[in-house]
Amino acid sequence: MDPSEPKTGKADAATCHVESENSGSRASSENTFCIGSDHFSELDPLMDLSALTDEKNGIIEKTVIGVLYRLPVAMMIIENNGKIRYVNRKFINVLGYSLDDIPTTEEWFKVAFPQIGLSCETITQWHDLLNRMFSPARDKEDIELQIQCKNMDLRHFHLSFTDLGHMGVIALQDISVSKDLENQVKYREKQQAAVASIGAQAICADDIDDLMQFTVEKVASTLGVEFCSVLEKLPQGEFLLRWGTGWEDWCIGAVIIPDESYTHTGYTAREKEPVIINDLFTETRFKGHSLLHAHDVTSGITMMIGNAERLFGILAVYSTNTRNFTEDDTLFLQEITNILIETVEMHMTMRQLQLFRELINRSNDLVLIIDGVTGHVKYANEKVFSYLGPEGYSRLQEEPHLSTLIQSVDHGQILERLNVSNAFTSEDVFTSHDNIIYDLEINFTRVDDNERKYILAIARDITRKKTAELELKSYAQQLHDSNKMKDIFTDIISHDLLNPASNIKGFTELLLENETDEQKLWMLSCIASNNEKLINIMETTSIFSRLDSMSSLEFNDIDLLPLCKSSIEMFQHQISQKGLDVVLEIEGPYIAKAHPVIQHAFCNLISNAIKYSSNGERIIVGIEGTNDMWKIIVTDFGEGIADPKKPVIFDRFSRATSGNTVGKGLGLSIVKRIIELHTGNVGVDDNPCGKGSVFWFTVHKGMDQSVFQ
Ligand code: ADP
Repeated sequence: MDPSEPKTGKADAATCHVESENSGSRASSENTFCIGSDHFSELDPLMDLSALTDEKNGIIEKTVIGVLYRLPVAMMIIENNGKIRYVNRKFINVLGYSLDDIPTTEEWFKVAFPQIGLSCETITQWHDLLNRMFSPARDKEDIELQIQCKNMDLRHFHLSFTDLGHMGVIALQDISVSKDLENQVKYREKQQAAVASIGAQAICADDIDDLMQFTVEKVASTLGVEFCSVLEKLPQGEFLLRWGTGWEDWCIGAVIIPDESYTHTGYTAREKEPVIINDLFTETRFKGHSLLHAHDVTSGITMMIGNAERLFGILAVYSTNTRNFTEDDTLFLQEITNILIETVEMHMTMRQLQLFRELINRSNDLVLIIDGVTGHVKYANEKVFSYLGPEGYSRLQEEPHLSTLIQSVDHGQILERLNVSNAFTSEDVFTSHDNIIYDLEINFTRVDDNERKYILAIARDITRKKTAELELKSYAQQLHDSNKMKDIFTDIISHDLLNPASNIKGFTELLLENETDEQKLWMLSCIASNNEKLINIMETTSIFSRLDSMSSLEFNDIDLLPLCKSSIEMFQHQISQKGLDVVLEIEGPYIAKAHPVIQHAFCNLISNAIKYSSNGERIIVGIEGTNDMWKIIVTDFGEGIADPKKPVIFDRFSRATSGNTVGKGLGLSIVKRIIELHTGNVGVDDNPCGKGSVFWFTVHKGMDQSVFQ
């Protein structure tokens, strides 16, 4: 017996049954086919019976039956009334059915085609078969059918027929192995076709959404499953069911699957490899997202789109039936995910390039990329064309050189300079299509891309900047001239006006000493006081003018203590006249980085304190040290300054007093300017005692405090 034939107990029993009848010489038994001598010719292809022609029919019949029984082809003989008359040993071995199991074609249909049962198609097919078998035309075409064997195996058979008049012989050849192989090849071919069509779609895909939807549908139909989806990885790590087929409509674009290992998707992302579910109900690695259970999913497979470092998402395929996903299926999905990730990355790169191109085009600068070797302009942004106009544009196309744009530019020289340093900037002029001359600042940068060398030229229109520069120069000159004028005026004040005023002062003092007439004395004292004011104004204006035009001062280490004391002494006369009590809360030394002009600041604050104090009041002068500054404080108990006036009294010609106190509102602005030049601060607060003001300014401490100890 052929070792590959099924060895079921039943088959063996049937074989024994037939053999016992065979040996019993009666061919008329129920399960034994009795064949008439007029049908010999029909058996010729199977055996050489010529040597037996002179034998008795019985011997021949026995021999024929013996031959049929031992034939290596499964065989059944059917009467045209639907009764099955004979099945040989090979039939019983391969299909497992004996005549007891299938006495009629009807019984045979029931057991051999349970899935389709007695479907119209099968019955029609068989009736057609039987009709043809017994038709006189005898054009018996072979057919292929899938038959369920007694052991429940589904096997493919090749069936060929021989008409014996009122009976027919069917030879069944088991072609399951070759059929399986053929089906496998067909299935793989189908997958390859799907890969090819998805690949083709990917190449011309403008819209990634269309490609993804096409892919999920194609994959589902190719694998013969109900569900397929692409789950996009979100920035927070979860997965969005972005594209899919088979799922309820509301799920698409809405279901978010957490990146947790209890979900099939999350588990795949963690395992970093395809994960196959054979049966979700017996799955132990994860329980699966409720989406799968809600859709009665049984089997499935997932595949990463991308890799662990750059994961775009997960491709998932699910079936409600138990499905064994094969290596071919895994390979197929791998090919699909490769196409998807490449397409997604290509789209991202294209989008970035597009963005980059748009940014360059929107630039206000003229951007050109030039071939480092030939000097040809490879790329020019839209700004270049807006400057060139249509004519210049076609000129640049005909002669794609930078010199077409800017005539004085020499490619050789640019290369030479770029060999020395990777970038340089030069200025040039460019005449536009409407004959406007532009000043350009061009930055040349060498860009080496593997073997190829490029020059990036970015030209900026600096025409307005140039014009502004010229205007600025002219203003600077005017300013310089007017400063000179101011200096001359200041000099005139100091020398040409102060000298006569000083002469008037000297003469008036002389006359005052010698005059006895009361009337004349009064007039002379008026002249003296007004002249004094005049001198004061001229001196102040002269100081301020000089300070105003100064941008910096030269500093030395100066002790503020003697400076402060001598300033108070200068006003001793006024102090005595008003009977003021000036308290010095200073010990010193106070070494500051200062210029001698700082004494004006001391004098001004002390003179104001005297001026704005009533007779007999107190003035306190103190110096405090903070980290690296000295704070000079002059406190008075005079009329004080209202809050709204405090910020403005340091401005030129600003006065807070409406009373009779004499002043021009220049003193504090000079203090402010002096302190600004010393990079210190100046300010005023209310006297915390409730009456009067606290004026203060700060200066930087000097380097060496000990020298003056
Ligand atoms: P002026 O010559 O008017 O004193 P200043 O610039 O020195 O000019 O002062 C500006 C104004 O600030 C003064 O007009 C006065 O109103 C106010 N002021 C300055 N010092 C004091 C002070 N110690 N007490 C009250 N008001 C003061």
